[in-house]
Amino acid sequence: MPVSGLGPYDTNNVFARILRGEIPCRKVYEDDHALAFHDIAPRAPIHVLVIPKTPYVSLADFATTAPPEAVAGFFAAVANTAKTLGLEQPGYRILANMGAHAHQEVPHFHVHLFGGRPLGPMLIEDWSGSI
Ligand code: AMP
Repeated sequence: MPVSGLGPYDTNNVFARILRGEIPCRKVYEDDHALAFHDIAPRAPIHVLVIPKTPYVSLADFATTAPPEAVAGFFAAVANTAKTLGLEQPGYRILANMGAHAHQEVPHFHVHLFGGRPLGPMLIEDWSGSI
């Protein structure tokens, strides 16, 4: 089920439970700011989730209320995760779903990191509207 992305923060969401060690994960990278682990339902040969260790519902929440050093540390962790996975040379894609239209399902801010094959165009080309 998509969530609004606007909170309040649900301390029982699945990523909060992973951070507390209540649910296992396949860890890829960890530092003071972030934890990265394999997505349970991968959409690419490499599909990893990077989450801040502190509770923010979505990008909207994280980007506007987290301390600047937490934001910088988080995005450095995303890049370090990609480097750990050997994705710098071939390239990779990051994506963050915010709210219902983006189909955000877990209300703890996270970045999806995709790689391991050419990823094609940014979105499925099924939109025929105009700008
Ligand atoms: P989003 O739609 O952006 O909120 O993405 C949530 C992602 O979390 C989905 O790709 C799920 O497959 C993934 N996910 C849900 N539960 C787990 C879990 N226990 N371990 C790893 N990934 C999970």
